[in-house]
Amino acid sequence: MEKGEELYSGKAKSVYKTADPDKLVLFFRNDTSAFDGEKIEQLDRKGEVNNKFNAFIMQKLAQAGIPTHFEEISSSQESVVKKLEMLPIECVVRNIAAGSICKRLGIEEGIDINPPTFEFFLKDDARHDPMINEFHIRSFGWANDEQIKEMQRLTFKVNDVLKKLFLDAGMLLVDYKLEFGDFKGQLLLGDEFTPDGCRLWDAETRKKLDKDRFRQGLGGVVEAYEEVAHRLGVKLD
Ligand code: 5GP
Repeated sequence: MEKGEELYSGKAKSVYKTADPDKLVLFFRNDTSAFDGEKIEQLDRKGEVNNKFNAFIMQKLAQAGIPTHFEEISSSQESVVKKLEMLPIECVVRNIAAGSICKRLGIEEGIDINPPTFEFFLKDDARHDPMINEFHIRSFGWANDEQIKEMQRLTFKVNDVLKKLFLDAGMLLVDYKLEFGDFKGQLLLGDEFTPDGCRLWDAETRKKLDKDRFRQGLGGVVEAYEEVAHRLGVKLD
């Protein structure tokens, strides 16, 4: 599908209109950002790896009965998706403590979180994506009751599917962030699922295989993403 006018440019993806008003093209750029866009670098091959990785995961989720916006890959760095009305909310599930929960609550990195915990954040870079709760979401109209329940249900369902998928490939799904949107009255998983928006550790060594390599200046960022893709059997060529 041919892409038309650019609709929006995010930190790692650009979104284009298409001839079909219900479809968009996502272009996965090589840009890699952290700390709400304060640190940005171009990493060769990242756009292509993330596009193919995202397609693989979205298809696995769809097979498991999770409705997503994904339609098809249209070029090495592009995919066609349904055009959603995105909710300005990030849904995070955590299986192991890492990142902001350690800082916020003084939890030691690496401990199991049992049962896995759920957090909502407001998508607002200027305010560093503050944590919010269901009452904020209802009071400020960011989503309705039904959408809140469905986001929680689907985000946990993703956990059941992906924890096993990654563990079978020798990796721990530490945590991840999902975004949802409305498509003609149905809530669909939107945005992307890539190592840019989740934490993955090697199950044996606990080596970090995700964007923390970039955030923490550990190097080998794209090599780690390729390793994850390779272990899952994602075709990169
Ligand atoms: P934390 O709250 O620990 O910073 O992030 C929790 C999880 O959500 C991590 O896997 C992190 O990569 C992901 N995440 C949180 N906020 C964002 C965001 O704004 N962009 C991306 N790509 N991932 C995010």
